[in-house]
Parts: sequence; C-alpha cells; structure tokens
Amino acid sequence: MRNARRRGAPPSPSPAAVPQSQYLDEVVARLEPWGFTADATLAAVSICRDELTQHLIAAVTQRWGPTFALGGLGGMPTLGRTGWGACLAHVPDTVERGRLLVIGATHIGIGPHGSPGQNLRHGQGDATPTCGALCALLASWGEHPTAGPDHSGLTDDEAQLLRRLVEAELDTDPRGIVDLTVAATHAVEVEMMAQLDALDPWDRIDVAVFTGIQVHLDGVEDRLLGVGATLRGAGGTRTTLG
Ligand SMILES: [Zn+2]
Repeated sequence: MRNARRRGAPPSPSPAAVPQSQYLDEVVARLEPWGFTADATLAAVSICRDELTQHLIAAVTQRWGPTFALGGLGGMPTLGRTGWGACLAHVPDTVERGRLLVIGATHIGIGPHGSPGQNLRHGQGDATPTCGALCALLASWGEHPTAGPDHSGLTDDEAQLLRRLVEAELDTDPRGIVDLTVAATHAVEVEMMAQLDALDPWDRIDVAVFTGIQVHLDGVEDRLLGVGATLRGAGGTRTTLG
C-alpha cells in the first residue's frame, strides 16, 4: 500500500536535529505527565545493527533502565510475534497499567567532507556507507530477489523486509540517501504501529512511540531528528505528544 505520509525535513543540517542526550531529556519531560516513570516503564529500542547506533542504548538505559531490542537493519522492528510476546511480558505489572516506551530510529552519517550517507569509522582509512543497509537498498533500487527458496546458505530476510516497507512509502524513485532515509523513518513508524495493533495490548498497557533519525557526525555526539511522538492508550487511541 502506498503511503502519502513522507517527505520530512532533511536530517542535517537542521535546527530540529538536537544532541541525542537533549532529545532524550525532552522525551522524559514529554512523558512525565503520562506516568512513564522509570519504575513503571520498559523501554524498547528499534535501531539498526550498525555499531554507530549503539550509543542510544546506553543513553536510554540511563533514563529508563535496560532496554529490549526490537530492531534489525535500517531500524525496522524485526522481532516478530514471539519476540514481541517476550517484550510485552516484561512490561512492569505492579502498576494499574504498565508503560512501554518504544524508540524507533533510522540513521544516517555525515562524512568527513559533509557528504550525507557515510562515516569515517574507528580504525579505518576511508569512509564507509551509513546506513549501509539503506545505501545498499538505494544502489539496488528497483531490483528484486528472485522468488523461491534461497539455497545460498545465507538468507537476507531483513534486507528484503526493509526493501518492501520502504518501497511502500515512495511513489517515485528516491532522489538520494537523505530522501530514502526520510522514507524509511516513516516506514518504521507505520510498521511499528501496525505491529502493535496486531498485538492488541491496549487493555493492559500504554505505549509511547517516538520515531526519528540518528545523525552521526564524526567526533561529536550523535544528533537526533525527531519525526513522530505518539501515545497509544486504552483501545489503541492515539494522542500526538507535542
Ligand atoms: Zn544501518
């Protein structure tokens, strides 16, 4: 299904992209009136597997405790029904309604010369793609794996899911990695909401879903460009968190 919700601001430079710690402090403040205290909340994070993304885990853990891992390539939630079953079973249950905080983010690098889509990594002499999965998708846009079983000994299920969900966000070819990253971020949000609705946990817990784009700038704290902030309450009702 094509989705018209796309085309946000580019990830950087942008006045809306703030240091990751500042972004999370703002999430704390926005959720405070809704009872998302550390005691009542399990935090779950859907980010890409890239090592550059992983600082977010520690920063979220500092504020809400250890996190449940939802994500696969490109930040898509790939844990499936069994994984979600474990996650939901870990939400605090000593309060009337437990809270689940979901943070879903794609990511993009800004390389040594300011070019989007790459970073100079630890111990390497040349910049490499960030996000590697989205750059690979861009490079192979329009191509599709042949149908049928894969006998290569190494399937590529996450990359294929990423391709399918991002393609559903775009009516035209992406103009570049920034365009594709924005589309992927909306795909993360759409897919996250769809998976939560399939789980139908609304009789027991409240869920806050924050989505955005991690921006890696070599040598400084990651930036985070917030895209979505939604509270799902009883019955799955949606409240935009301003
Ligand atoms: Zn990545």
